[in-house]
Amino acid sequence: MAKRLNFDLNDEHRATEALVREFAAREVAPHIRENDASKTFDRNILRGMAELGILGLAVPERYGGAGLDYIALGLASEELEYVDTSLRVILSVHAGLNSLSILAWGTEAQKEKFLRPQAEGTAIGTYGLTEPDAGSDAVGIRSTARRDGDSYILSGEKHWISLAEIADNFLVIAWTDPDKRARRDHSGLSAFLVERDSDGFESGDMTHKWGIRAGNTGWFRMHDVRVPRENRLGEEGEGFRIAMFALDQGRYTVAAGATGLIRACRDQSVRWARSRTTFGQEIGRHQLVKQMIAGMERDYEVSRLLWLRAGEMKNRGRRNTRETSLAKWVSTVASERAASDAIQIHGAYGYSDEYPVGRFWRNSKGAVIYEGTREIHTLMQADYALGYRRDRPTRVVLPPFRGSGSDDFPEGV
Ligand SMILES: Cc1cc2nc3c(=O)[nH]c(=O)nc-3n(C[C@H](O)[C@H](O)[C@H](O)COP(=O)(O)OP(=O)(O)OC[C@H]3O[C@@H](n4cnc5c(N)ncnc54)[C@H](O)[C@@H]3O)c2cc1C
Repeated sequence: MAKRLNFDLNDEHRATEALVREFAAREVAPHIRENDASKTFDRNILRGMAELGILGLAVPERYGGAGLDYIALGLASEELEYVDTSLRVILSVHAGLNSLSILAWGTEAQKEKFLRPQAEGTAIGTYGLTEPDAGSDAVGIRSTARRDGDSYILSGEKHWISLAEIADNFLVIAWTDPDKRARRDHSGLSAFLVERDSDGFESGDMTHKWGIRAGNTGWFRMHDVRVPRENRLGEEGEGFRIAMFALDQGRYTVAAGATGLIRACRDQSVRWARSRTTFGQEIGRHQLVKQMIAGMERDYEVSRLLWLRAGEMKNRGRRNTRETSLAKWVSTVASERAASDAIQIHGAYGYSDEYPVGRFWRNSKGAVIYEGTREIHTLMQADYALGYRRDRPTRVVLPPFRGSGSDDFPEGV
């Protein structure tokens, strides 16, 4: 039979969507306003996510995960961010940036030591690239890893790190070749799995953050932290490639999450537009309000199609840096617009914490900055279109989804 394009979710997808939606509505939604106001990260949420298998959703069962596909990971991201961005951020750094990098680039020993507990939810992972002097310009980082016998000695500081005070394992990018650093040659960077309980490791919160306030964001410093060679991820010199590979997976969850945030803005705005009246009719009847609601509807559907395409390419083992960047760019910019319009539709009520739309707007802005700013994705998309950028093959790729006993993704597609 000829292969056909299929837009339908399968039973596993629908079950994942329902499970995560129900969990977020039951366990998180009732407390989110209070936790956001008091800047409280609720560790019980991690326990709940672990129990349901959400923390290891797209990790194969043989490494302690749920063995679902990358579409299921996107659906979970969308449902989590529908309730609050802080929930989706957990999935982005723990599952997207960290665990999937270990799945693809790790040795069997690393998968046993780091991936299995992370998939089971008994350990939490995150990702440390950004530093006080370098964010978009990853080659500008200063952290170093000096070889010393069978170990490396890591020094440096990372900031704006999600789950910095919560995570057990940190995927850290640092320079191993000082000469290449001087020439800004990224093949002098390497990746390491650094454990919190290492001597010389210190972390703290960034308490002045005004968005994603129910989430944890902070910094960590490494003062001559000794990391065994077995904790180096990939080969020496592959750190930049691993950092970019990780972003392909993290950005994917950000894109799906931002799609959920657009949906939350639309639903909240529709509720308000159907109940508030001005000039003798529901405000939803006014054309200019309709225009804002229609924009949210458009952006939700477009964003969803874009992340689904990227997820399907991941399932099939196809390179998707370009498509993932497009999905992340379009959905995050649209989510900021949707949140701003949601406030507008609520009038003065939106300009307070009485309704969630102000929180939606504060939360939306972060994703326009992290995992590639709006400007970096704009440049990437222009460069792909102009032919200035082409993705070269990497030694390692994200394992394609082989299906749970079905012939959904036969070899060779
Ligand atoms: C809530 C939150 C959570 C985060 N979590 C993590 C995490 O877990 N791990 C991690 O490693 N990092 C994390 N980050 C950091 C984030 O990835 C960086 O902030 C981001 O990469 C941008 O870097 P920067 O802040 O240093 O800005 P800069 O790189 O200094 O950019 C400043 C401005 O200049 C623009 N700009 C820079 N270069 C160019 C260019 N070539 N052309 C045009 N414009 C340009 C940018 O778009 C931006 O508008 C997080 C950030 C936030 C806000």
